[in-house]
Amino acid sequence: MPVLRRAALTLVFVSAIVLHANGANVAHDADTQEIDRSIKPGDDFYTYANGGWLKTVAIPAGQATYDTRALLTERTGQRVRDLIQEAAAGHSATGTAAQKVGDYFASFMDVNAIEAKGLTPLAEELAAIAAIHNTTSLSAYLGGTLNSEVDGLTANADHIFGAFVNQGFEDSRRCLFHLLQGGLGLPDREAYLDPSPKAVAVREKYQAHIAAILKLAAIPASESRAADILSLESRIARAHAPDADAADVFKQNNPWKRADFGAKAPGMDWRAYFEAAGVAAQPEFVVWQPSAVTGVSALVSGERIDVWKAYLQFHLIEHYAAVLPRAVAAEDFAFYGTILSGQAQMPDRNSGAVAATNAALGQAVGQLYTQRHFPAAAKAKAQAMVADLIAAYRVRLSHLSWMSPATKTKALAKLAAFRIGVGYPDAWIDYSALRIVRGDAVGNLRRAEVFNRSRNLAKLRQPADPDEWRIDPQMVAAVILFSPNTETFSAGLLQPPYFDSDGDAASNYGSAGAGIAHEITHSFDELGNIYDDQGRLRRWWSADDLASYRAATAKLAAQLDRYCPLPDLCVSGQQVLTESAADLAGLQVAHDAYVISLKGRSDVVIGGLSGEQRFFLAFAQRWRRKQTEAALRRQLATDNHLPPQYRSDAVRNVDAWYTAYGVASADKLFLTPEARVSIW
Ligand SMILES: [Zn+2]
Repeated sequence: MPVLRRAALTLVFVSAIVLHANGANVAHDADTQEIDRSIKPGDDFYTYANGGWLKTVAIPAGQATYDTRALLTERTGQRVRDLIQEAAAGHSATGTAAQKVGDYFASFMDVNAIEAKGLTPLAEELAAIAAIHNTTSLSAYLGGTLNSEVDGLTANADHIFGAFVNQGFEDSRRCLFHLLQGGLGLPDREAYLDPSPKAVAVREKYQAHIAAILKLAAIPASESRAADILSLESRIARAHAPDADAADVFKQNNPWKRADFGAKAPGMDWRAYFEAAGVAAQPEFVVWQPSAVTGVSALVSGERIDVWKAYLQFHLIEHYAAVLPRAVAAEDFAFYGTILSGQAQMPDRNSGAVAATNAALGQAVGQLYTQRHFPAAAKAKAQAMVADLIAAYRVRLSHLSWMSPATKTKALAKLAAFRIGVGYPDAWIDYSALRIVRGDAVGNLRRAEVFNRSRNLAKLRQPADPDEWRIDPQMVAAVILFSPNTETFSAGLLQPPYFDSDGDAASNYGSAGAGIAHEITHSFDELGNIYDDQGRLRRWWSADDLASYRAATAKLAAQLDRYCPLPDLCVSGQQVLTESAADLAGLQVAHDAYVISLKGRSDVVIGGLSGEQRFFLAFAQRWRRKQTEAALRRQLATDNHLPPQYRSDAVRNVDAWYTAYGVASADKLFLTPEARVSIW
């Protein structure tokens, strides 16, 4: 089972935009019903906007928080489940998306067939491991199984290295082969090195888990082999880059020529490795963590072959655990689900099958999803809103007072080159070369991986495609890729109450629009200022820009410092500054864009509220969340986002909000015009 964790900043996954709840017909009544009219908007805008919701919604048992994102994840998950099950029940023509999706799911669900086959579907690969007899054959096996399912965020647990085919850090025109560290069954390097009793206990349990898996595969001397495997992984872990280095993108940018590997990382038979990996002709690589490549390569020739073979047997079985007999899947869950993640109960097979189908055939499921839930008209509506947001941002960037003129030119170039995808990709992945066979769960997974790998390697021979989607449309998600210079907002995210293509524009701009504009801001702020318009790694702010940005944000930090959600605990303005500046910019840009969208007309009144009022109301509603006090304390200690009510309070800095709601100096949220902050 692959262990997922954040590994780098090249890709910044952002959590779903939180807007207002209660699905349908946002435009007509939902927002106004959730208002608490006993509260004066100028005193407590968050409770005014969300009072009804806050009174009626409860945190589900066993959870610490509940918000719109949770609601949407639930709803979208059910829709995806329905679509996949329908595909499995139907008889679609061979080769269609529905056939592949349906057969993949059905094969995963067919536990009797899986049980009956035992480990025989892995026989061929186990034999290949058994045949390893020297460094060259070991290197060839490692190269032949190089994992291409990594993306800079996903650690690959079952393969020593991962390949991420993406544009170069310095050359945006073509894709390069980025080589990433991997091979650890525990979550990270620290898990192997931490001497605390808790970490020692987890390692003991991991070793017992390795032994149990080997035993289930009837591999002899399972106990001593488990000890050997843990020892090998500990040495791999020592070679891994520390987390701080692994997260520093400048330390990831290490161009190696093909010839460098032999000199810089002796041990592996690199010729055999790259030939088996299918990249023998590749002249250049980007090695993200050189210490791992050097260290692991030394281990390839320095460690006993039989230990490597045991390591590979274990990780092979682990990798396919979900589609192997019950005993293996149960053992896998006992360690990864219960011991590492604290889950008491194994999720039902159906959930696992849905997740596996999404993982293997993400865009095939995405096609079925968008055909039903995100028509082309919705995409066109979202694109029009994005165009207004970009137009609004262009004006704001042009007028920034703290940014130097030379830097402004670069910012505007970056904005012009920006690619924002909404809903679903313009071009879908062509799955015609991928054969999905009902009844062959292991084979389906293996073929899906081979398909993805050849698809990734093929990118090395084509110009880089900045419009490629890295998330699936049916996810409730957005992603910023600084390299390339793109942002993507899924169909799963762009649905009511965040965005209603048939609904009220004021609400759409105030909610989804503000969310998208927030993310756009990150491409220009302290997160994005190390990537240029082409997504190349280079700092484009001057030292003076940085100094004047810091000065411009100091006033906001001071404003945030005064928020104290608990009698003994206040917000740290510095900790949440970058995100709060993006919240404020998101609000301002979305408001400008809303005005642009009106093209001089005045908006209609709905539910007694003007367009301006609905815009700000939707903004306040997008942050609504219920959470326990423990969750709030955790958030204040570690999160770089404000608690929800204060995110909503960004409106205090916007003049138009005062006008829309008639907020005056006696109101609690009132700020004098001089105290209002504007950064972007
Ligand atoms: Zn953010």
